[in-house]
Amino acid sequence: MLLIGRNVNKEAYLENEYWITVSKIKNPTTRLNKRKILLIRLSYLTQYAEAIGVYFIIYDFFRTKEQQKSRYAKGRTEPGRIVTNVNGITARSKHQDWHAFDILILGPQNRSRWGAAAGYQVLGEFWESLQGIWGGRWYIEGKTKFNDVYHFQA
Ligand SMILES: [Zn+2]
Repeated sequence: MLLIGRNVNKEAYLENEYWITVSKIKNPTTRLNKRKILLIRLSYLTQYAEAIGVYFIIYDFFRTKEQQKSRYAKGRTEPGRIVTNVNGITARSKHQDWHAFDILILGPQNRSRWGAAAGYQVLGEFWESLQGIWGGRWYIEGKTKFNDVYHFQA
């Protein structure tokens, strides 16, 4: 089961639907191929999650440069905790190229399960078994200070 989060950028979502249609009739470029691979893996991830009784929404997929810049400001020039190491300008986020999405696992009564809920690792390891990159691995390996278990990347 796949629910699309309320704050998913609708224009970007439509652009993606457009791309799926176009890719059927044209040879996709390498960049588009990566998007396609991400979506194919996502379909496997949703099937797997449903099979093991884990439910999630995608709360963040495509980001504009401005959206990435404002995330980078969090915990630096704006209040809050640091949530990204990529400023969106000199370093592009994978979200700016449709090469990553962030999920939020839902518990009973669709309550959000933030943090290191067990489901993230289970889904993350499944994602890695599909050759995808899972954000939680960076923390486990000491590469990031924040645990980005929500992040699934092509
Ligand atoms: Zn992410």
